[in-house]
Amino acid sequence: MSSVVVAGSFNVDHVWRCDALPAPGATIAGRYSTGPGGKGFNQAVAARRAGAEASFVCALGEDAGGTLARQLAAADGIVLVAEASNEPTGTAGIYVDGRGRNSIVIGAGANASLSTEFMAANTALIGNAKVLLAQLESPVETIEAALGLAREAGVLTMLNAAPANAPSTISLLKLADVLTPNETEFAALLGRHVGERLEADDVAALDGASLHALCRKLSGNTVVVTLGAVGVFVSHDEDKLRGDSQPYYRIAAESVQVVDTTGAGDAFNGALAASLAYAPEASFIKHVRFANQYAARSTEQEGAAVSMPRMTPADV
Ligand code: ADP
Repeated sequence: MSSVVVAGSFNVDHVWRCDALPAPGATIAGRYSTGPGGKGFNQAVAARRAGAEASFVCALGEDAGGTLARQLAAADGIVLVAEASNEPTGTAGIYVDGRGRNSIVIGAGANASLSTEFMAANTALIGNAKVLLAQLESPVETIEAALGLAREAGVLTMLNAAPANAPSTISLLKLADVLTPNETEFAALLGRHVGERLEADDVAALDGASLHALCRKLSGNTVVVTLGAVGVFVSHDEDKLRGDSQPYYRIAAESVQVVDTTGAGDAFNGALAASLAYAPEASFIKHVRFANQYAARSTEQEGAAVSMPRMTPADV
């Protein structure tokens, strides 16, 4: 039995670190590395290393990438539940320049074939979890099915509405007990679903009451907006405070020696899911504080999945 079930993507990341991002037509030199990625996998690793019994429901190709996913999941003690796909395992080509800026190309491959039928076949796994955590790197109808199955079984649902350009529907957002966009995704969702125009860069500067009002337009449930180096903003429905004393509040980011913030959002989501599964009766602010600490620690090392710290709610 798994306390956290993550439904989502696995990618093989191919990373080139170069002085400058390649211009059209240019051939340049770079330092190459490869490793696991995909928001789903990163979040499953974070949930597992944050102490949860974690299962990861995904789709993989019959290729080296699929084998890598199985090996890495086993090494971390994650139960991998993979739908076999005729497509190649998901890939990401990532260029990072000397200033840490990046350009990314995703080949969704097998991730695009994760099916609603496969989710339905895993109804028992989902129904026995404490928390179901999903993102938007898989077909929207499949994610909707996963959230719906969890809801029907009374399992707490979390949706990390990432990436920002992924398709989503307001009905999908409503299926999330906890919705966790970053500021870019938050601005994109507001524009797409409630007709509010807001620049991502302006989100963190808004006063609490305004930010809370915007969150309420997006969801009748809890919204957690991650604000990078600024920290986190939490907004609850007045009637569902989840043990908190206030309907909205900010938590400042931890002060750490940042090396690489890639995967910080994934760290936050996996840790929040693990904490919610570990002590469902605890006030929500405790879970957010833990996830905020966990995500900060993940930025102290290079990489995404590989940089997830081993730190559980019981340790803090
Ligand atoms: P994403 O990776 O999705 O863009 P964010 O950048 O919002 O997500 O980061 C997620 C969380 O990671 C933040 O809310 C915070 O808890 C933590 N975090 C990110 N950047 C930093 C930082 N520079 N210092 C400390 N914590 C950070």
